[in-house]
Amino acid sequence: MNKILLLIVALVSISANVTAQTTGNGLQITRLTDSFHIYTTYNLYKGEKVPANGMYLVTSAGVVLFDTPWDTTQFQPLLDSILSKHGKNVTHCIATHFHDDRSGGLEFYQKKGIKTYTTVQTDKLSRKYGHKRAEFLLKKDTVFNIGSYAFETYYPGEGHTPDNIVIWFGKQKILYGACLIKSVEDEDLGYLGDANRKEYATTIKNVQKKCRQPRYVIVGHGDWTNVKALEHTLKMAEALKQ
Ligand SMILES: [Zn+2]
Repeated sequence: MNKILLLIVALVSISANVTAQTTGNGLQITRLTDSFHIYTTYNLYKGEKVPANGMYLVTSAGVVLFDTPWDTTQFQPLLDSILSKHGKNVTHCIATHFHDDRSGGLEFYQKKGIKTYTTVQTDKLSRKYGHKRAEFLLKKDTVFNIGSYAFETYYPGEGHTPDNIVIWFGKQKILYGACLIKSVEDEDLGYLGDANRKEYATTIKNVQKKCRQPRYVIVGHGDWTNVKALEHTLKMAEALKQ
């Protein structure tokens, strides 16, 4: 009897481990399209477990990572999961502003041979605050052509931070907005310690002008499935000015 019970316990713990590796509490990967995937990791913020979203794009020339995991224990598991899911290595990584939930893994990934990028403006802030830095610096909005995909980095002005950029996939109409854009669930604009309260709304309007009729708007934290995130953020940013 005891042996059977032990066997059951052993089997249950094995299957629990397998589940943890593939879907994991620490790292979630959700398919957006065949090539685009959203990954989510978690960290503590004001004593609460908060999710952070990043994205990756699978191309014939390798995998492009947009931002790095917030949870530093997930830097390597993310690479491993991508390799086992798609049979491809990450070749490029672009961080969208200087905060840890975006740039924390840059130096880790550079050591793995991945080309890492931020803007010059982000790099200035990363140096100032002792955050991780990228190997390559973008001096202006830049079009990347990787495999058969094209996308551009766009600096719309100050908002969440002075350096926040978004990534626009014009053909697929995917806007990767990161922390500049808030989820429709959010009741406020979140951490505003580095924000520009006066310019935030104008900056969101610039994103709307540049990124016409997005099919997806990927936000930095929380629910990323609602394209109304942009209008929702604008409303809150307008209120911020008053
Ligand atoms: Zn953030």
